[in-house]
Amino acid sequence: MFDYLLTDQQKALKKEAREFVKTIPRQMILDMDADKIRFPKEFLQEAGRRNLMGCRYPEKWGGRGMDWVSTCMVMEEIGILGYIFACTFGVGAELVCDAVILHGTDAQKEKYVKPLLRGEMFAAECLTEPRGGSDFFGTTTTAVDKGDHFILNGQKRFIVGGEGADYFLVYAKTDPDAEPRNGISCFIVDRTDGVETQYLYGLMGCRGGGAARMVFKDVKVPKENLLGEPNQGVKVFNTMMIPERLGTAAMTIGAAVPAVDIATGYTSKRKAFGQPVAQFQGVSFQVAEAVTLLDASRSMIYTTARAVDEKIHDKQIRRMVSESKKFVTESCQKAVHNAMQVMGGIGYTNIYPVERIFRDLRLASIWTGTNEVMAMIIANEWYKAYWKDKSAGKIRDMEPDAEEALAAEEKIFE
Ligand SMILES: Cc1cc2nc3c(=O)[nH]c(=O)nc-3n(C[C@H](O)[C@H](O)[C@H](O)COP(=O)(O)OP(=O)(O)OC[C@H]3O[C@@H](n4cnc5c(N)ncnc54)[C@H](O)[C@@H]3O)c2cc1C
Repeated sequence: MFDYLLTDQQKALKKEAREFVKTIPRQMILDMDADKIRFPKEFLQEAGRRNLMGCRYPEKWGGRGMDWVSTCMVMEEIGILGYIFACTFGVGAELVCDAVILHGTDAQKEKYVKPLLRGEMFAAECLTEPRGGSDFFGTTTTAVDKGDHFILNGQKRFIVGGEGADYFLVYAKTDPDAEPRNGISCFIVDRTDGVETQYLYGLMGCRGGGAARMVFKDVKVPKENLLGEPNQGVKVFNTMMIPERLGTAAMTIGAAVPAVDIATGYTSKRKAFGQPVAQFQGVSFQVAEAVTLLDASRSMIYTTARAVDEKIHDKQIRRMVSESKKFVTESCQKAVHNAMQVMGGIGYTNIYPVERIFRDLRLASIWTGTNEVMAMIIANEWYKAYWKDKSAGKIRDMEPDAEEALAAEEKIFE
């Protein structure tokens, strides 16, 4: 639908991603959902061989020198296979590598980005702890400076790729006396002595991605594996929120598409009261709503991606990315809900993949920052922007545009 916005290079990349998606065997999707596959290495290896991961990074580090619009497009296409395929694709290539590309040394990019984008290495992001995920600054994992290395201790929870990853991006407190903003550092931690995958979670959906609790016990992390400046992990965290949330939103669209497609085909063929159910407005209007929500989501994603590419004002991007994550994930969940509803009982069975997609997409509004946290950021940025513009007199004062606007005694605020 939005192909007219794409360049020829982007269209060609989209075609490549679609061709790749077609090659993934149905059995792999079923085995992931049945937890028979614990981490989809073969899928990532093939994505790497095809150079589909990290297309926005410079060619020098294994990318294609493209942009965020291209990344969102690829994430949407990969999502069609299932949300967990896009999760594992995104966490390593689009999240962890993003942090290394933006904050890492050339040696770190050489060692950790290039092999990952070739599909020869896998990575996980370790932010959430058993004591909580929303409060990033409350981290209790510690890393103590021992001269040429740090000693890392702590636990991280729900880590996609906990099973399967070769290295981990870990946030830990390095200055316990400082304000949290100035006391957390970010590390690249190899799977080495003291790094243990302790618990694989039984999930409602999104299975097969190796989501685990990770324990780090007296892990020796070389100094050269500090990512960015010491005690300034927040700077890495802030930039990572873009791929976390924008990427999540883009892939959610792709993951919802098959449900709406299947429902469209089904309702065109399925008859009730002697006619295809799609001829009942109660049915076709639900499909229309689902399609509208998907298209509105795309509009939002590609506008936000463009804003990130253009590097417009930081605060505005923060709000746009959070709005995109919240709006798109909730819209896609609603689209899948409608798809299941119009299929009647069969939509609730495993005869069609709609029930799996429904289970998978429940995660979308929980991970990479819950949608409540997104609302908190949106509200925060919106109120600040409103008062800033207002006091600068940037917009017409619309309050007097009412008949009784001068009734000051009626304007009571306390
Ligand atoms: C399948 C799966 C995969 C995941 N993958 C990863 C991963 O790879 N790496 C990683 O680091 N994490 C991962 N996560 C963790 C995920 O990001 C967190 O679960 C999420 O951020 C919420 O943290 P929490 O579960 O600790 O909930 P809590 O922080 O305990 O929140 C509980 C509830 O309180 C609400 N809440 C909290 N604070 C506020 C507030 N200030 N205002 C309003 N409401 C609030 C939340 O919205 C939520 O509804 C994954 C989770 C799952 C389920």
